[in-house]
Amino acid sequence: MEASTVAMIQNLAYLLASILFIKGLKGLTHPRKAVRGNLTGSLAMFIAVVATLWAGDIVEWPWIIAGLAIGSIAGVILALKVPMTGMPQMVGLFNGFGGAASFLVAGAELIVAIGYVATATEAAEAAGGVLPAANTGMSLQFLIAIAASGLIGSVTLFGSLVAAGKLKELCFTFGGKKYWFSDSILLPGRHVLNGTVFILCIVFSVMVVLNPTTAVWYFLLVIAAAVLGILISIPIGGADMPVVIALLNSYSGLAACATGFVINNNVLIIAGSLVGASGLILTSIMCKAMNRSLANVMFATLGPSADGPSADDVYEGKIKATSAEEIAMLFDGVQRVVIVPGYGMAVSQAQHAVRDLGNLLESRGAEVEYAIHPVAGRMPGHMNVLLAEADVSYDKLKEMDEINSTLDTVDVAIVVGANDVVNPVARTDPSSPIAGMPIIDVDKCRTVIVIKRSLSPGFAKIPNPLFALDNTLMFFNDAKKAFTEMIAAVKES
Ligand code: NDP
Repeated sequence: MEASTVAMIQNLAYLLASILFIKGLKGLTHPRKAVRGNLTGSLAMFIAVVATLWAGDIVEWPWIIAGLAIGSIAGVILALKVPMTGMPQMVGLFNGFGGAASFLVAGAELIVAIGYVATATEAAEAAGGVLPAANTGMSLQFLIAIAASGLIGSVTLFGSLVAAGKLKELCFTFGGKKYWFSDSILLPGRHVLNGTVFILCIVFSVMVVLNPTTAVWYFLLVIAAAVLGILISIPIGGADMPVVIALLNSYSGLAACATGFVINNNVLIIAGSLVGASGLILTSIMCKAMNRSLANVMFATLGPSADGPSADDVYEGKIKATSAEEIAMLFDGVQRVVIVPGYGMAVSQAQHAVRDLGNLLESRGAEVEYAIHPVAGRMPGHMNVLLAEADVSYDKLKEMDEINSTLDTVDVAIVVGANDVVNPVARTDPSSPIAGMPIIDVDKCRTVIVIKRSLSPGFAKIPNPLFALDNTLMFFNDAKKAFTEMIAAVKES
């Protein structure tokens, strides 16, 4: 087949893949169409990969097959081993690996190009001439894209590693005190340090473009960008992690897009731009959900306030524990029940039991809705995914803004494994790490039942005065066990 025909078929396949990527993304905007959207995106990726391999000039099959085998084995092992609650860290790592792939490909292309130019120059000189500029194979676009890939890819990889560590809630003890990796880690003079490393990154990027005879500037750029990625991620703590995850997702797309320019691959440019743009939109949605600006999230020195009230101050003598039997009596004749799921529901995989209790209460005449906070759980859409898996009808899932104005007419709110997203200090304490974050105002409901195992704090590590309110009852239990016991008690009552 002629080269021009091959290129035309490949571009048509890329166009089809791009259309399917956009359709897939559109599908992901609604839970009902999300599975189909996911499959459409996978099909698009399959078409893009096949078209690239089919039309590629130099496809070294042993390397491709080795890569596929190693990637598939690693993917299957991770998918089988990582628990549902570990998914956010894994997604964080995947963002990082996307960044790593981008800067490795860009670096490899640079090294190949440098080798080509050196050999061609030697040959030209041996023939007594000079290599024409057009033959160096390194256009300005190529070099700028290489620098962009190195910079964004390395920031993405190392920022994602820090984010994954924070999401895993790693901690260490030093001098008898426990430190959480997920807290804001504020280095002295951090703004000056960040600024200096950023300027170094820019200088090394310019050197990559101006002096493409050596890869040394590229390596220095990748190292400086790695330090920058770590420095900008470590101060971000507590409740701000959702924004970082969304932002790193966007960076991984931008790095892939830059690599698309390096290897002149249209579908990589388009797919990378789509990931970059959708990640930025998600970042903005997350910022809005937390009532913070992006600059505030990235650069503010907000951390857990040392002079905030201790758990003892907040809880002592004010906690009322309850049991499944007592709750069953409370459900007698209720008209409106709202269930507020959080991270603990994911930990205990209680979504099916939650749905069963919801259905049971509905069969006894109550109206049951589910209030979804945009940052509940550990990844965007976490609660929607779990409840969809349990076949809870989408029209029963109410967004925070929609449900908040009606909560004073709710008889019973059941908070299942949620903590930060229902913590009223977000409204009342400007020095709290979650200050200003809109919450689900369950404290306005007539009775609040909080299901969790203890009085331990949530991700933001602060006490929650909701648990000590007059209208709150604490059911200390694992979420799944609690719902199973409540179902049995309601059936018996
Ligand atoms: P939280 O992390 O605030 O609280 C979860 C609660 O679940 C804990 O207090 C814990 O209490 C309880 N829990 C844990 N395991 C169980 C179990 N088996 N059964 C019952 N309860 C359990 O969760 P929220 O969903 O309220 O808030 C999410 C937090 O995570 C926010 O701060 C958000 O900013 C942050 N975040 C969100 C991301 C996102 O994209 N959604 C990403 C990264 C962070 P106990 O141990 O006593 O049982």
